[in-house]
Amino acid sequence: MTLSAAPDARAAREALAADARCRSCGSGGLRLFLSLGDLPLPDALLREDQLDGPEPRFPLDVAFCRACSLVQILEDVPPEQLFVENYLYFSSFSEGLLRHSREHAERLVEERALGPESFVCEVASNDGYMLRNFVERGIPVLGIDPAPTQAAAAEAAGVPTLTEFFGPHVARRVREEQGPADVIVANNVMAHTPDLNGLVAGMAILLADDGIVTIENTYVKDLIDHCEFDTIYHEHFCYFSCTAVDRLARRHGLELVRVDHFPDLQGGTLRWRLARHGPAHESVARYLRAEEEDGLTDASYYERFAERVEGVRRNLRALLGDLAADGASIAAYGAAAKGSTLVNYAGIGPQHVSFVVDRNEHKQGLFMPGTHIPVRHPDALLEEQPDYVLLLAWNYRDEVMRQQAEYRERGGKFIVPVPTPEVV
Ligand SMILES: [Zn+2]
Repeated sequence: MTLSAAPDARAAREALAADARCRSCGSGGLRLFLSLGDLPLPDALLREDQLDGPEPRFPLDVAFCRACSLVQILEDVPPEQLFVENYLYFSSFSEGLLRHSREHAERLVEERALGPESFVCEVASNDGYMLRNFVERGIPVLGIDPAPTQAAAAEAAGVPTLTEFFGPHVARRVREEQGPADVIVANNVMAHTPDLNGLVAGMAILLADDGIVTIENTYVKDLIDHCEFDTIYHEHFCYFSCTAVDRLARRHGLELVRVDHFPDLQGGTLRWRLARHGPAHESVARYLRAEEEDGLTDASYYERFAERVEGVRRNLRALLGDLAADGASIAAYGAAAKGSTLVNYAGIGPQHVSFVVDRNEHKQGLFMPGTHIPVRHPDALLEEQPDYVLLLAWNYRDEVMRQQAEYRERGGKFIVPVPTPEVV
């Protein structure tokens, strides 16, 4: 096992894993395979006057359930601490996501023959970016999202929204007042939900007998194959395979009936379709079989990943150290959660990287949590022309390369950290 913690801490963490219960099936004896250390909350950027103050840190330990194959972190940071910064996220800011959502909605309308008699619900509906597509076609919808600012934006865009956390209680009330849902959409929410069974139980309550649930989340196999360990952080409680989703669904009287893969979306995303009963599309058996053959149902698959993660840290530190020894100047791109995980886990600080740039103006002028690397506007890359830029936002690689054409024409180089650190 590759664990970064000191021996005492390691023993304590292994004991924690042994005592923990699976977030999905409730089984004990979880297998701890990766410990990323005590990390600050990845979105908790600091103002200058906060740099000398206390900064809470939480262990980040990742475990595998041998009973249901779910990968999960062991820690629960209190939600009021965890999601404080997230209220700044509006789905409609991402053009790629808008296009993807529109295509999905069009497909659902056609395949399910949705019309004025139908009812579409979305869990974590954010600013209504998805449901707007149904409203435009006269299809009744309801969004459910606890974030008041986003819910208000959704309402303003004509998307009725319930400002609550979704679960069995809310599901029962919506069904009584508005009837069962023909389609329930839940995109990029399952990993953020500490009460996984409450989420799926609520879906099973609200769903019409012939309705479908459609869920999107990043795929644990893509995470591991591409060594995207920096997408593991405290806001993401679980990391899903088809096997884990299938077992979770069955426990609530639902079945996995279709799997679609979007390899370029957020480092690799799956769309799972659930229903009360089949028939199941051939993709279900194909994915479940492949996961078994590839070892996703076995702890050793995850332990090999942990060794590769350790290798990325070693190689990246060596590379940055060598460049710094040669007198090279280095900056970074992307002050998002995954960047925070990577630099804090790898121990990369202002001694390696003098500043990080980010397009989000709310972050400029602040400092990354833990490492305290200052955040600046992307124009700083041309003003300072550092020799290298560590690309923390690797999921926007092509977009960043296009934006930074001038920096590169002047001789600037990028360092892409995963799956293995390389200079491009
Ligand atoms: Zn389990």
